[in-house]
This record gives sequence, C-alpha cells and structure tokens, in this order.
Amino acid sequence: MTYIIAEPCIDIKDLSCVDVCPVDCIHQADRILVIDPEECIDCGACEPECPVEAIFPEDALPDKWNAFVEINYAYDKGMDVVNQLTQKYADEHNVQNEPID
Ligand code: SF4
Repeated sequence: MTYIIAEPCIDIKDLSCVDVCPVDCIHQADRILVIDPEECIDCGACEPECPVEAIFPEDALPDKWNAFVEINYAYDKGMDVVNQLTQKYADEHNVQNEPID
C-alpha cells in the first residue's frame, strides 16, 4: 500500500507534507505533489499535516478521486506524464481550488 495525494492539492502544493516525510518520497509536479509509491513506507506522517486534507491511504481514498491513484503512480513514468494526467483531470473536472493563507 501507499499514500495518495488527491484533488485538493492541485494548485495549492502547501509542502507541509514534504517537511515531515522521513524518506523524501513526496515530489513536486507543476500543479500537484505526488507520492512515489515505491519509496513510501506508509508511515502516515504526512496525512495530518496537509491543510487541505488531500492525502489518504490508498485503500481509504474517496471513490471520486480514484484518478489520483494513476496520477501518483505515474511518478515512475516521469513528471511529464504526471503533469499531463493532472492537467487532463483538472480540465475535465474544472478544478479551481482557492489559495490558502
Ligand atoms: Fe512519506 Fe510517510 Fe507520507 Fe509515505 S506516508 S509519503 S513515507 S510521510
């Protein structure tokens, strides 16, 4: 299992999760952060740090955000693929997350 970063992260990228991850497996794409499932040790440290509640254990990800399994797992195909999938999702779902303070 791994943890998945979902829609609320798009265009927010707060980075609090990056600071606490003990294995540095959270990576920045253009519009979202993603977790490398190969490196994640399932410690759960990142989940409570996210101010927009974008991080979930894979088996607890809300169904409406299933597309983010593919987006996070795409990390091993390169950030271009992550960026393309994220852009496609954001366009199709008209994502407009408000910036946080
Ligand atoms: Fe990093 Fe732990 Fe979060 Fe995995 S669950 S991304 S290892 S902080």
